[in-house]
Amino acid sequence: MNNLTVEANGFDFSLDKAVKIAVAKGDGIGPEIMDATLRILKAAGANIEPEFIDVGESVYLSGNTSGITERAWNIARANKVILKAPITTPQGKGYKSLNVTLRKSLGLFANVRPVLSLHPYVKTNFPEMDIVVIRENEEDLYAGIEHQQTEDVVQCLKLITRPGCERIVRYAFEFAKAYGRTKVTCMVKDNIMKLTDGLFHRVFDEIGKEYPDIKKEVQIIDIATARVAAKPEDYDVIVTSNLYGDIVSDVVAEIAGSVGLAGSANVGTDVAMFEAIHGSAPDIAGLNIANPSGLINAAVMMLAHIGQHEIADKVQNALLSTIEAGIHTSDIFTNSRSKRKVNTSDFADEVISRLGFRPENLKESKIAEGNGTIKIPEYVRSTSEKELVGVDVFLDWAHTDPNELGAELDKIGAYGLKLKMITNRGVKVYPNGMPETFCTDHWRCRFVSKEMDLTKAGLEYKPIDFEHIIVLLSKLNQYNFNIIKTENLYQFDGQKGFSLGQGE
Ligand code: NAD
Repeated sequence: MNNLTVEANGFDFSLDKAVKIAVAKGDGIGPEIMDATLRILKAAGANIEPEFIDVGESVYLSGNTSGITERAWNIARANKVILKAPITTPQGKGYKSLNVTLRKSLGLFANVRPVLSLHPYVKTNFPEMDIVVIRENEEDLYAGIEHQQTEDVVQCLKLITRPGCERIVRYAFEFAKAYGRTKVTCMVKDNIMKLTDGLFHRVFDEIGKEYPDIKKEVQIIDIATARVAAKPEDYDVIVTSNLYGDIVSDVVAEIAGSVGLAGSANVGTDVAMFEAIHGSAPDIAGLNIANPSGLINAAVMMLAHIGQHEIADKVQNALLSTIEAGIHTSDIFTNSRSKRKVNTSDFADEVISRLGFRPENLKESKIAEGNGTIKIPEYVRSTSEKELVGVDVFLDWAHTDPNELGAELDKIGAYGLKLKMITNRGVKVYPNGMPETFCTDHWRCRFVSKEMDLTKAGLEYKPIDFEHIIVLLSKLNQYNFNIIKTENLYQFDGQKGFSLGQGE
């Protein structure tokens, strides 16, 4: 049984033969902490065969802006498991984030970051905290689709998909089940983003029903982040979208005591990548003083993923025993809590000497007692009746009086359509706007059918043809309006697939 593994086509790790893993030693402190980690894995009897790959600074500086060589891609994809030390992204424009490239190209949809308090051995204000943040890794604002549309306005597209939500939410519940966790908290901002975050919330409610034994709660991200920072012991598993997850997981790691301690997994249905959460720490590179615990924790998650559970527990418990014994690297060393300050390689030796030990006070690792594989079913797309009911035309218009724009657009009289409203930065400014509302050069003009749909009980506009939109755009162009983009307005099974303007 592989706890962290997503049960799908890609994985088939035999316990009899060594599992080939792609190993990236990284930059800065990367090689030091990777050597320490691999020595511990070897001593613990991990049945793995590392294949070293080149990624990071040297690859970037050789002129490859992706930071990863063709050979490294091939090995990573063939082995399906990557253990990666942090890399340095050179300063300056033109270099793509290797982490984002790896996550997206390899479909690593779930970022899993467990953070456990090591009180009283590591200083933290929160002795009880034991949180796993499960962050969606591929979509949201991190799709990176940005445009400058007018002199004054840029936009970034927030993409949330149903399959993306289903996969990450399912992963969170399955993770909770496999690891005996009792609560999953979903964090969203659907009081504002009713469609995008609303979908995440809805999927959480739908899938949550299949896990009656797990407690569920939904919190608005702003207050939720504040509460995590103030009372982390109230949280167990957190599931959230990409940007919020990025922030919350850093808050959680920071309040636990040291960025040097936490590991993380990036899991997909084919490939999984394991790494420490911290960066390459150039300020201490080459000094042999970095804390290797983050990467060791990542390696433990990797062992769980490939089914080597006993070895995973052995390594984790030896690590906890070492920390309990007060053997600390300088980042967590304090006179009151620590007994001996050690460097990176000595710390690894201390962990190796404790293989087979169990922690006396800290929570013992019992991955081998986990109960099952994480199952993510194939996505099934449902179909609903989709009707085109209007269009939002975005205009670049450098004047400031919305009534002037409204009057001009009203005059156009495009075949079958009428102007319903104009918004500026989402606020309705025409008809009946407020003079106090600040307006930029970016105007969203909503057009709907001139006719009402008499078959519907409410005040609904008739569905339109795309032809209507083409004629409208052609007319706007003829009248020298500067069209930036259009967004069609659809109804799905009679439900509006678009938000109303503020004040509409
Ligand atoms: P950083 O995490 O490397 O360092 C922040 C601080 O924490 C530094 O003072 C550092 O000495 C300390 N620190 C980090 N890890 C430590 C450890 N294991 N033991 C002891 N102290 C540790 O963050 P940064 O300085 O902002 O970034 C440095 C480089 O790392 C940048 O090029 C950045 O792009 C890159 N980075 C890479 C990854 C990755 O590969 N996953 C993640 C974050 C940052």
